[in-house]
This record gives sequence, C-alpha cells and structure tokens, in this order.
Amino acid sequence: MKPSILDFTENELTEKVKPAFRAKQIYNWIYHQYADNFDAMKNLPKDLKQQLENDYILNPLKIVRIEESSDGSKKYLFACQDEFTMEAVLLPMKKEVRNENGKITSETKYTICVSSQVGCKIGCAFCLTAKEGFKRNLTVGEIIAQVLTLKKENNIAQNRRVNIVYMGMGEPLDNMDNLVKAIKVFNEPNGLAIGVRRQTISTSGLSRQIEKLGKLDLGVLLAISLHAVDDELRQTLMPINKAYNIESIINAVKAFPIDQRKRVMFEYLVMKDLNDDIKSAKKLVKLLHGIKAKVNLIYFNPYPNSPFKRPTSHDMEKFKNFLNEHGVLCTIRQSKGLDISAACGQLKEKTKYELS
Ligand code: SAH
Ligand code: SF4
Repeated sequence: MKPSILDFTENELTEKVKPAFRAKQIYNWIYHQYADNFDAMKNLPKDLKQQLENDYILNPLKIVRIEESSDGSKKYLFACQDEFTMEAVLLPMKKEVRNENGKITSETKYTICVSSQVGCKIGCAFCLTAKEGFKRNLTVGEIIAQVLTLKKENNIAQNRRVNIVYMGMGEPLDNMDNLVKAIKVFNEPNGLAIGVRRQTISTSGLSRQIEKLGKLDLGVLLAISLHAVDDELRQTLMPINKAYNIESIINAVKAFPIDQRKRVMFEYLVMKDLNDDIKSAKKLVKLLHGIKAKVNLIYFNPYPNSPFKRPTSHDMEKFKNFLNEHGVLCTIRQSKGLDISAACGQLKEKTKYELS
C-alpha cells in the first residue's frame, strides 16, 4: 500500500516538502479546493508534483456503493487500496436557527459517522461487523479520507463545519495511535478544521484505553456503548465485559476530563424482552448517579438471522420517560436510514450477499 498524503499533520508535511510554505498550499488544495490529483495543484512546481505523485496516493479510498435513505442519510461503502471494504455515513440534520433579525430559518447540520478498523476484535453478539472478525486497523489517511470524500461528493463547502462520530465499523480505542493522530489532522486549522469538541469517540468500554485517552486531554467527547446494566447480561452481549466490567467503565468515565458544558454519552442498544424493561431503567439511573451523562436509546436494527428483536416504540418511550423523570437526560436516536441498512456493517454484508 502506498502511503497517503492524508496521513500527515501540516507540520509533518512541512518536514517533507521544501520550502515549508508548500505544505500549506498542498493542504489548501486537498482540504479546501478538494483537488482530485496532484497535477491539479496549479501553483506547485512540476518537479514537486511529480515527487508527490511518486511518493503518495492522494485519496486511498474508492467508492464502491452508495445507499440513500428517504430521510436524507447516505451510506457509503469504500474499498481501500488492498480491496478491504468499510463504511461511512453522512447524516444531515435540519435545525431551526434564529438569525440576527430574530427570524427563524432552517439550516442543515452534518454529522459524519466514520469507521476506525476493517472488522473488529470485540465480537459483540448483536453486531454485524463482529461477524467477519478483525482484518486490520485503518490508517490515519483512510480515516481522514472518509470525511474528505463525503464532503466533496456532497458539495459541502470547505468552511461548513461537520461533526464526526467514530461509530462506524471497528473499535476506535483499539486503534489508538491512528485515532489520536486522525483527531489532530481533522483539527488542523488549514485543513478540515474540525474542532475536538465536534469529535465523539464511541467505545465498547475498553477502560484502560479510556483512561489513556483521558490523560492525553485532547478535549474530544466520549460515548460509551453500555447496552446492559448488569455484568451477567453485558458479558453475553459483549465478551469484552469479562476483561472490563461495568464498574471499571464507570470509574474510567468519572476520571475522564470533560468540558463543563458537555456530557458523556451512554449508548443503550435496546433489544426486545432483553433489556427494555423498567427494572433495567431503574438500575441505569443508579449506575449513572454522579455522572454528567446523556443516554441515547438505540432501536436494535435487525438483519437476516439476527437473534435479537427490535423493541416496541411503546417500551422505548416508557424507558425514556422513566430516565427523564428520574433526572437522567435521555433521547431516542432517530432511526436514521432504517431503509438503508443503517447499523454498522450492514451495507457491507448486504453487498457481499448480493455479489456472491
Ligand atoms: N466499536 C464502537 C463504535 C462502533 S459500533 C462501539 O461499539 O461503540 C457503533 C454503534 O453501533 C454501537 O453503539 C453499536 O452498539 C451499534 N450497533 C451495532 N449493531 C447494531 C444493530 N444491529 N442495530 C443497532 N445498532 C447497532
Ligand atoms: Fe466492535 Fe462496536 Fe461492533 Fe462491538 S459494536 S463488535 S465493539 S464495532
């Protein structure tokens, strides 16, 4: 695999191309002009363009398939240089905003859900990504390219801010070095300029890695995939719970530096007759006591032969109301793109079935 030019922070690029101001020009071509190739970088000398062409690939990803949902979300299946595939999703959300004249207008905000690995080692029972096992970590450039490509393909202007959630395929904290560097490259002022507080890391709860990430004090937001309130059930759903139980996760979250105005998100995948009862909601309230938390309830999204069932909307509402009435902020994730194989790994699996 050829290294990608998207692997580098601006400082690193400065070390590689001389004179130093060239790095800023290259950054501008890539992240602001969305250049397709090095040859298009008009203000670079010919020999530098040739050198870049020889040493690097600009975008290491190719789009294999796109599915668009009726609600506007778009899911992209990408092939890497070695032909492994993975997914990213663009989630547009309309927000009402008041302008300077007090008039209410609607504005679209974008969130991009990115993958961090091809496959995953964690092996959660409800997750399709787990089924294919672990293939490899994504490189920094492959993480960056997901956002760059989605912005470009959807004509999202360079100065439009997007939010990033590391909730695609893979466990981000199991690819810590590349994750931390990707956070920095995303944040580059002359690049995509995506602030750390616009980046949310979702983890299955690798407590030791949460502590490590916390010590780096990057300012990113944290989301914990909790999904169960007692170790016995969590262990059967998420084998990683044997190594890092619920208590260890809660302790790691309590030690994690978080902006005063922000909250730690707890994702709770709701499965019918398994964890959708009020007894679980009660336990969840107790568990989160003393944490500035926000719970996001997720409908389980069934796939062919999945052993779990989607909960009823009645039980979801009941669960949500119980939490809110007991002082825990709770929302139900709008089931964005149910018709486009929404949960992680589902588009990839579908493509495999259809091709075979
Ligand atoms: N590995 C990380 C981030 C990627 S998974 C983590 O587990 O947090 C992103 C989210 O997709 C997780 O919260 C996971 O629980 C959810 N997910 C997996 N399979 C799903 C399914 N079938 N239906 C709905 N959500 C699912
Ligand atoms: Fe990996 Fe997350 Fe899927 Fe679990 S839910 S197998 S941690 S991607």
